[in-house]
Amino acid sequence: MAYKLFKNANLIDGNGGEIRENISLLVENDHIKEIGKRINAPYAEETFDCNGNTIMPGLIDAHMHLGLVEIEVINLSRKNAPGLMAARMFKNLREALDQGYTYARDTGGADVGFREAVDRGLAVGPRLKICGAAIAQTGGHGDDRVASETRPYSEPYMGFRSVIADGVPEMLKTARENIRRGADFIKVMCGGGCASPTQGPETSQYTLEELKAAVDVAESVGSYVASHSYSNRSIVLSANAGIRTIEHANLMTKETAALVAQKGAFVVPTQITYEIVIEKSRDLIAKFIYDKFVSVCERGYEAIHNAMEAGIPIGGGTDLTGENTKYASGAIAYQAKAMGAMGAIVAFTKTNAKILRVEDVTGTLEEGKLADILVVNGNPLDNIDLFKDHRKNLLLIMQGGHVHKNLLV
Ligand SMILES: [Zn+2]
Repeated sequence: MAYKLFKNANLIDGNGGEIRENISLLVENDHIKEIGKRINAPYAEETFDCNGNTIMPGLIDAHMHLGLVEIEVINLSRKNAPGLMAARMFKNLREALDQGYTYARDTGGADVGFREAVDRGLAVGPRLKICGAAIAQTGGHGDDRVASETRPYSEPYMGFRSVIADGVPEMLKTARENIRRGADFIKVMCGGGCASPTQGPETSQYTLEELKAAVDVAESVGSYVASHSYSNRSIVLSANAGIRTIEHANLMTKETAALVAQKGAFVVPTQITYEIVIEKSRDLIAKFIYDKFVSVCERGYEAIHNAMEAGIPIGGGTDLTGENTKYASGAIAYQAKAMGAMGAIVAFTKTNAKILRVEDVTGTLEEGKLADILVVNGNPLDNIDLFKDHRKNLLLIMQGGHVHKNLLV
């Protein structure tokens, strides 16, 4: 047995309750053995004095893409040979852990090999849930052909991958193929997106029958479907099809929020991705993409308010591209603009753990759970923006009892 002791910490356990002062936490091998006011553990091989800083669960990213390795996301597979793409994806993976993410869900692109590489200790990064290629309709979000092209669609070999499926039989077959290849869940593109060359975020894609076919395949093996949905219509379709996690959801009305709540689906806002593009990358992307980001950002905060009012469980994701992934730790700060600091912390820990279906092992600091732990500089309830500077303010990052970073003296 190997023991590590944290002492003199203020505890945010991820359940949303009051912060608890002067707490000790004992780690045994990979999990939390004990949390209490005073723990005497002279046998601990390492003791971390938190100096009154805050101890909290590792962050979970419920919506990211390892394969979006450049800010301009069209043509990525033409510009990156497979080996280069893999190297860049593993770099993104490591940097996600550097930013405090101990678990993540790749919502389109990463294959089962990335998940296994982490599980086998061959790669450093958050543990992963993956869906393989996202499923899109002809001309849908994920079909990278511009209007003047007549060539058939070809599925990229690696990186951000989509596969085209039209009609119920193709949807059934494609979803089954993804499950065969080891997907943890099925991702469908249910509407346009900010980075889509032909159809914008206001559009909706797929029929109810096609979406139900994907849900059928997923649920038959105990899995679920996540849908890329900006437009209100696509969110209504997703909810009615039995889709479990609705991604982005920026244009969701109050009425639709009530439907989503009634169906028991989660929403996964990704506010940081618009905020960062607006703040930092204006000149690096096409004008039509920039304009879409501005309009969906404001609506995204409204949608979060609608979701809170309706009682929808709200997770959170980053969805950042290229060098903007270096800002990923700040996602929680943007979400706090709508949910408050504690609301955003719960979204990126406990609720995201539920979305990934790993709430039995992580997402909160409780006895018996994995030691996925952050020590952050000061009190994030007073200054949620501290997450924007992970280099300075994430004092310690522990994943499954392993210390990844330690600035505590
Ligand atoms: Zn995405």
